[in-house]
Amino acid sequence: MNVSPRQKEIETLAHQFPSIPLEALLKQDVLRLGVRFSQDSLKIASGYKPKDYFIFSFDLVTLEELGQTAQAHQLRAPEEVRLSGGPWRLAPTIFNVRLNPQSPYLIQLVEGKLALTLNGQALADAEYHPVPAFYGEPLQSGKQINEIAPVLEWGYLVYLTLYRLCQYWGKDEECQFCDINENYRQQKKAGRDYTGIKKLGDILEALSHIERKDTLSQAITLTGGAITGQLNGKNEVDFYLEYASAIHEKFGRRWIIKAVVEAFEKKECQRLYDSGVEIYHPNYEVWDKNLFRQLCPGKERFIGYENWMRRIVDSAEVFGPEKVIPNFVGGVEMSSPSGFKTAEAAVASTAKGLDFFMSKGILPRFTTWCPEPLAHLKNQQPASLEYYTRLLSVYKATKERYGLPNPPGYGEAGKGKAVFSVSAFMDVL
Ligand code: SF4
Repeated sequence: MNVSPRQKEIETLAHQFPSIPLEALLKQDVLRLGVRFSQDSLKIASGYKPKDYFIFSFDLVTLEELGQTAQAHQLRAPEEVRLSGGPWRLAPTIFNVRLNPQSPYLIQLVEGKLALTLNGQALADAEYHPVPAFYGEPLQSGKQINEIAPVLEWGYLVYLTLYRLCQYWGKDEECQFCDINENYRQQKKAGRDYTGIKKLGDILEALSHIERKDTLSQAITLTGGAITGQLNGKNEVDFYLEYASAIHEKFGRRWIIKAVVEAFEKKECQRLYDSGVEIYHPNYEVWDKNLFRQLCPGKERFIGYENWMRRIVDSAEVFGPEKVIPNFVGGVEMSSPSGFKTAEAAVASTAKGLDFFMSKGILPRFTTWCPEPLAHLKNQQPASLEYYTRLLSVYKATKERYGLPNPPGYGEAGKGKAVFSVSAFMDVL
């Protein structure tokens, strides 16, 4: 069998970094390069959960471009794929689908079964995220339940993007890697029902169906773009707090409630906590101060780097350090023109942030940077696989050095068990 350069690189890195399972390397490689699907691979009789475009596009191509090519069938691609077996005898490994018609990774039927292939060689058996038991339940408003309350992480997480826009507007404010506002526009243009502000009544009704029909989901994420002014007559804390309180009041502790919002002062964090939010994600995106200023100009202007990091630390006094889990966009510190030029330098910078937070008991997490064509960062190459391998290695070592527990609200950790699908950080713990 011919060994492709991608296969060779994965095997070489797995050899150099024995603490990182090969599954995690393949997952990161598929996440950074995206994946494509053959036409017959999407004709699955049992059905599957399609991509719900839960917040960003997370694609390396626009819907319009995809719709104009012979690849248009991929507009119905699944949300997540689980790999296993194959020549590397992979343990089950779940990744989130990022469409890329140019990707070397192709899902197709091989001898009648779904497989992930590379240059025509089958690398792993594949299966798609099944249709959740509650999908198709009617809502009184006429909205689709998957539009209001989609699930991710193989059913573990109900993802509620309550506000599908961000009030950081335009190039001088929007995070340069983020396509939330443009994605909203492209979804509307494509004629999809894409709700800008989700109504509390729809959310509670959808969750009632989920409570009745589903046993898999364990956590809820409440999120949306930044609210710098007012939305429905409320500031950002009050806007999200209304949903958290109502969910907590109606469903108690049926789900762990997580909030991905801005970095607030302690008194605002306390209000969120009192409303039922257990886990707080004040995402700092990138550790390096200069890159933060360039890549997150809205966060810098409205809150500022120093305040953002201080508020993360202060919030641990409210939620408990293990329940403060700020995200960074792994790989964006290698974007051009200002990013680091080598994987080693990029990871050395990010490692300082990991050390800073983990020494205080706070465990950041990361998602895999997806160079989306509608974001302000244009014509970007994804970060290298070497970068992700080094990052996973440093992440794991730092967490172990400080003896931190696995993060709550993410399901099981470890090879073959992790369900978090947008990076392999849970697969290596
Ligand atoms: S704060 Fe930044 S990353 Fe978050 S939605 Fe707004 S622009 Fe995107």
